[in-house]
Amino acid sequence: MPKQLLSPVMDTYGRFPLALVEGKGSYVWDDQGNRYLDYSSGIATCNLGHVPEVVEKALQEQLSKLWHCSNLFHIPSQEELAKVLVENSCGDQVFFCNSGAEANEAALKLARKYAKDNFQKEQAEVITFKNSFHGRTMNTLSATGQEKIHQGFTPLTPGFSFLPYNDPEALTQVKNMKPDAVLLELIQGEGGVVPADYKWITELSVICKENDILFMVDEIQTGMGRTGTLFAYEQYGIEPDVISLAKGLGSGIPIGAIIAKEHVAKSFSAGTHGSTFGGNPIATTAGLATVNHLVNSNVLDNANEMAEYIWAGLTELVEATDTVKQLRGKGLLIGLVVDKPAIEFVNEAREKHNVLFIVAGPNVVRILPPLTTNKDEADHFLQVLKQLFHS
Ligand SMILES: *Cc1c(COP(=O)(O)O)cnc(C)c1O
Repeated sequence: MPKQLLSPVMDTYGRFPLALVEGKGSYVWDDQGNRYLDYSSGIATCNLGHVPEVVEKALQEQLSKLWHCSNLFHIPSQEELAKVLVENSCGDQVFFCNSGAEANEAALKLARKYAKDNFQKEQAEVITFKNSFHGRTMNTLSATGQEKIHQGFTPLTPGFSFLPYNDPEALTQVKNMKPDAVLLELIQGEGGVVPADYKWITELSVICKENDILFMVDEIQTGMGRTGTLFAYEQYGIEPDVISLAKGLGSGIPIGAIIAKEHVAKSFSAGTHGSTFGGNPIATTAGLATVNHLVNSNVLDNANEMAEYIWAGLTELVEATDTVKQLRGKGLLIGLVVDKPAIEFVNEAREKHNVLFIVAGPNVVRILPPLTTNKDEADHFLQVLKQLFHS
């Protein structure tokens, strides 16, 4: 291809034909000045809306002080963010990195180290689930239970087994296999917005506890208030040993983290894991302002009110149309199973109505409003969906 026709950016994404240049609250603007209602939230990342004032202010202050110093030094904002995460979760210590894949990478390394430290295990074995998504690095794609993510990248990292999600049989297999750890999403996000059954997940957590199997939850998409509580695990009455976070943690500034219980975290002794950028002053300032706001303001109450409102509207809509087969998810992580390619609705909403949402697999429309959305925006969104589904 002649050089001038070749995009200078690699072709790894199927992108919408839209260049976004500005955002505020629930809206974004493209380079032509068109405004869109953004119910995609940068894939469950801009949970406080775009450019939230509390985070912007904190960042602006930090920008004139210190950007980076490496983890050879103490970083006050990192320590404060860790403290807030620990105070508001069942975990005791935090490791910071820069993305979701890196967070799961850290969780997987920690599981291996913990098994070696405590049970002198030489073979690593981690159970994950079919249709899961855990990231795109070699280890996290190997942990992902989807053929299409593996394709072209063999040999995969050995030591992963994929069991069927929400399947009672899988519980027996976990008990028999006694792996080092299980890693799973409490709602499979990329896999089609599929929530874990309450009974299944509680039984799985008991099996793990009784058999010294680490219970690790990937809350990269479900965390930071997305499902109505700070973390989704709170709604299942379980206590994971390791929680991985990223997306909503920094309101769009790249940051990832794992929170672990003390006896597990201990295995990450000095020199065993690290990251140059991980938890740097800018990222953890954004994270601290974000989490403080989630914990101390009424934003979660608003998210729950709006979730109830949107779910009620969607339920009505689903009853009035044959196009939508199922409504599923939790809080403001919402999936609509449709009988046509989901992308058709996504494209029509964007092109004709200036409303943005995304897909989760071929036949699931994924709706991710900011937790700060309001009734007017929700009404507009529901009105547009009504037109899309001709109900
Ligand atoms: C997005 C996501 C990841 C990967 O996060 P990246 O920041 O893209 O590496 C992993 N797990 C889940 C559940 C996710 O939603």
